Amino acid sequence: MSAGTAPTRPLEAICANFTGIDFSATGKQLGYGHVVHSDNVYDGSVIPVPLAVISSGPGPVALLVAGTHGDEYEGQVLAHELIRELDPERLSGTVIVVPAANSPAVRGAARVSPIDGGNLNRSYPGNADGGPTEQVAALIAGDLLPRADFVIDMHSGGSNSTYLPSAFIYRGPDEELWGAKLRAVRLLGLPYVMVVAPLLEPGSLSSAGDLAGVLTISTELSGSGTVDRHALATMRSGMPRLLADLGILRDEARAPAPAEPQWLELVPESAVTSTAAGLFEPLVDLGESVRAGQPVARVHFIDELDRAPRSYHAPIDGVVAIMRRSTRVDPGAHLMHIAAPLDPDSL
Ligand SMILES: [Zn+2]
Repeated sequence: MSAGTAPTRPLEAICANFTGIDFSATGKQLGYGHVVHSDNVYDGSVIPVPLAVISSGPGPVALLVAGTHGDEYEGQVLAHELIRELDPERLSGTVIVVPAANSPAVRGAARVSPIDGGNLNRSYPGNADGGPTEQVAALIAGDLLPRADFVIDMHSGGSNSTYLPSAFIYRGPDEELWGAKLRAVRLLGLPYVMVVAPLLEPGSLSSAGDLAGVLTISTELSGSGTVDRHALATMRSGMPRLLADLGILRDEARAPAPAEPQWLELVPESAVTSTAAGLFEPLVDLGESVRAGQPVARVHFIDELDRAPRSYHAPIDGVVAIMRRSTRVDPGAHLMHIAAPLDPDSL
């Protein structure tokens, strides 16, 4: 089904890695993928990775993933809602929803897995014989991604940062898929689109999707370890609009076309990074336009009472696109990212 690629091994309809799922069945199936792990807490039992497969039969397949990082919540809430509300009779294809991909991280309210420290978005294509996080990556990359025509990996800033509510796309991997990404993010209707370099993070689901030749986009839906109601509301109207455009959701009374987003690019110079240990004071707000050289942050020293705070300046002209939330910082901590404006006509 995927454009230009074939799975590396046969995809079975009933796969031993899942309970409760027959990928050839129609209707709504609720089940879970298997992660097996043995330590002092987990005695070799299965750690479930919940998923839903909602299908009307043959047709395009969408794979919706949330909880790649456990403390990023808007996508998780939307995924649970879609599992409850998507009606297979209104589909013309299949929607696979994975609402808590790194389920140990989700259960632990943490970015990465508390079991093995694994960052799922650095673990693709995974390893079925590896640790828990590598097993999750192998389930998604090996058993779900090869069935998909469209993948969305829904992230947010997590507990430590807030993003402008954005669609987030890697440039590439080819002209056709790039054009499809641009169409998809416009339909999603988030107010910003952040463009990054091809295959920006090796081991991410976005990279795995691009390497497999499957239309793959991501989001950054606010963050701060909470649920941004506005970003969630935008996704609630945007996701059905996108699924209808992909030919998966039938008879969708389409929400009006969204406004053109503001296009931004994250570049290597975007990061404003602390060189000091202390307390981070932002001097600008998320979404604010800044000029290169403008003071944007200070870090106050905790013990050197007579020492002035260290100042940080915008490295480029742009928009404050990501803001750190935790105040206590060490050298190397990104305080914020300034994204460069991007002319959509140049894309
Ligand atoms: Zn994330």
